[in-house]
Amino acid sequence: MNEAVAGVRANVARLHGELVRYGLIVWTAGNVSERVPGADLFVIKPSGVSYDELTADSMILCDLDGNVVPGSEGSGRSPSSDTAAHAYVYRQLPEVGGVVHTHSTYATAWAARGEPIPCTITAMADEFGGEIPVGPFAIIGDDSIGRGIVATLSGHRSRAVLMRGHGVFTIGKDARDAVKAAVMAEDVARTTHIARQGGPAAPLPGGAVDALFARYQNVYGQRTEEGVAR
Ligand SMILES: [Zn+2]
Repeated sequence: MNEAVAGVRANVARLHGELVRYGLIVWTAGNVSERVPGADLFVIKPSGVSYDELTADSMILCDLDGNVVPGSEGSGRSPSSDTAAHAYVYRQLPEVGGVVHTHSTYATAWAARGEPIPCTITAMADEFGGEIPVGPFAIIGDDSIGRGIVATLSGHRSRAVLMRGHGVFTIGKDARDAVKAAVMAEDVARTTHIARQGGPAAPLPGGAVDALFARYQNVYGQRTEEGVAR
């Protein structure tokens, strides 16, 4: 178990660098978490710590109620202020292995308007299988953000939700998958926003969206022992 926790700590610390690399965050906003395989635990970023100072041993180990595991490495610090939301998602959606939150500019602009991002380009059909939906406005602190994420994404193909007036939450089979969804959500939010400046952008036909999504999820990419890497 210690080895599994150490692996997840290293992974989560490294993946925060991807949020910086893709320009999804400013200052200390944003967070990545990952479930510890085979345990009712997850690892998340400490609250308010500079991205330059995020190391594996400063990551925080929590149970699925969002409580810091006493005596664990990094437990002297408070976990991310979004910990309750991440914990709620892990409790309710056992297939989810990673959760990411950002206020990335273009996606959050759609969230500010409370407008779902329509599926007008193939990259979006591939990755999200349709529009990126809007979840309710919810105040940070308790599990109301988590409830909004789960209610919006349950039964939806999209791994991203625009929480109204706030920002983006993404889920994935692991943290890398959720980070990829956050990167792609910002990319399609930007492209769709720019397309709109020039005129209307028609959603793709539903049949084409279904076919693109099925192909991308099942065929595209490099086959590995663990499935298809995309
Ligand atoms: Zn936020």
